[in-house]
Amino acid sequence: MNKKELKQFLLDELYAPYKNCLQCPLSLLGRTHVVFGRGNPDAKLLLIGEAPGKDEDLQGQPFVGRSGKLLSKALESLGVDENDIYITNIVKCRPPLNRAPLPSESAICTKILLQEQIKIISPSVICSLGACATNFFLENSKGISKTRGTLQNYRSIKLIPTYHPAYILRNQKKLGVLLSDLRLAFNIAYNFK
Ligand code: SF4
Repeated sequence: MNKKELKQFLLDELYAPYKNCLQCPLSLLGRTHVVFGRGNPDAKLLLIGEAPGKDEDLQGQPFVGRSGKLLSKALESLGVDENDIYITNIVKCRPPLNRAPLPSESAICTKILLQEQIKIISPSVICSLGACATNFFLENSKGISKTRGTLQNYRSIKLIPTYHPAYILRNQKKLGVLLSDLRLAFNIAYNFK
């Protein structure tokens, strides 16, 4: 088993007991799937959003709805192959009416799943998409417009915050900013100039 296969095995082992997770109230608020994550288990770049939306909940995959399509196009325009990176969310179950996850929900879910995913994947760079993910890593409540595009650290991993693609859908003038931040994250992860 090579390194990538081992990491995929470990991710599968991590996910298995939580496929019908009941550890926080989001389990009882209408979710269909526990949306674990997708992509390369040995990725150097890890993208982390907030929570699954309607399409993600139905399909069991992160970033497959309108936001996901925008993210895919953005990555494609930068020449980034989605199969090279890993994509997930802070919480794995859809909050009702797409509300933000409560701090208590994020705390439980990140402890049992995201923190373990990060340990297994061991990326060089995390790109946090939006305020929810960014504030989780930076442990503050600064606005995303203040932190986006800056180089931060989360433990020994470089962290680059940027806007969530859902925000870009509503503010298309900011698309260039998202592209610039993603390019920065990708370049640092892969040591490109
Ligand atoms: S959000 Fe996370 S902790 Fe809560 S039920 Fe879903 S998988 Fe479990």
